[in-house]
Amino acid sequence: MQENHSLHNALRQVRHHVGRVMLHGFSVSGLATYLQLPEYDFCVDMGECPVSSIGINHVFLTHAHGDHSRCLMRHHSLRRMMGVEKPSIYYMPADLVPGAEAWIHSEAIFEGVPEQRFKLPEIVGLNAGEKISLKYRKDLSIEAFRTRHAQIGRQSFLPSMGVTLFNHKNKLKDEYIGLDASGIIELRKKGICITREVYDPIITFMGDCLGDNLIDPDLAAIWNSEVLVTECTFVDDGEESMADKKGHTHIATLVKALEKFGPTMKCKHIVLNHFSMKYSSDHILGALQKKIPEAYRDKIIAFI
Ligand SMILES: [Zn+2]
Ligand SMILES: [Zn+2]
Repeated sequence: MQENHSLHNALRQVRHHVGRVMLHGFSVSGLATYLQLPEYDFCVDMGECPVSSIGINHVFLTHAHGDHSRCLMRHHSLRRMMGVEKPSIYYMPADLVPGAEAWIHSEAIFEGVPEQRFKLPEIVGLNAGEKISLKYRKDLSIEAFRTRHAQIGRQSFLPSMGVTLFNHKNKLKDEYIGLDASGIIELRKKGICITREVYDPIITFMGDCLGDNLIDPDLAAIWNSEVLVTECTFVDDGEESMADKKGHTHIATLVKALEKFGPTMKCKHIVLNHFSMKYSSDHILGALQKKIPEAYRDKIIAFI
């Protein structure tokens, strides 16, 4: 194995222009993951908090593992330190909220914040399937969905969720297209609803997940997003069972998913992230070249 220090520096930001999105961030398994979408005022995970994250108002946390969550409150406190008054909003799976609140409180007390001055940041717990508008961007909505990542005990998993970011618009219903302004005003006066809500999926983030999430028919909607960001922690032959044991995706399962959903999917770009820290960039790129079927190779972007 070749050592590659530049790949493993969490403060070295990776930037890719993918579809309608500029994706900035870093993601190496166990080290840190954060993915910023500056034009959409949105960030997924905060395993590291570079200064470029400070202006982002909405942060979604996929799960509680430290390489994704560690700098969540650093984001909050750096904003205050730099005089940003607008409260940032932290979205996360609803079942993580009590633990997150206790953790944030303990960290503040540990840092010497007097109890009477302690104030929780704004945390929004999400349930699977709920669409909500981003607080400061009403043209954008998010919908979280349940994923299976790290198993705790026989049947249960650590709470973890993926998320889709949508452009949200009201469009004129088909039957009213072509109507002039006075006709529209007339219908509105009568209280007739002339618009329908349209949600256009811009990008989906899977977070850390077992590969079988990608072939789960209940999650088939992930393949409708223009961009899908999904983990691909393991790429070598013989690592399939380790991937399952650790709750991560092996490239072989991704290939299965491409074979299953590829012919019908609307997804134009698939960004792979969260590679194991034991691989070099060349090793990752070589494995993708060798193992991704040619028909899909142009869609794949390694986030390294
Ligand atoms: Zn991780
Ligand atoms: Zn994890």
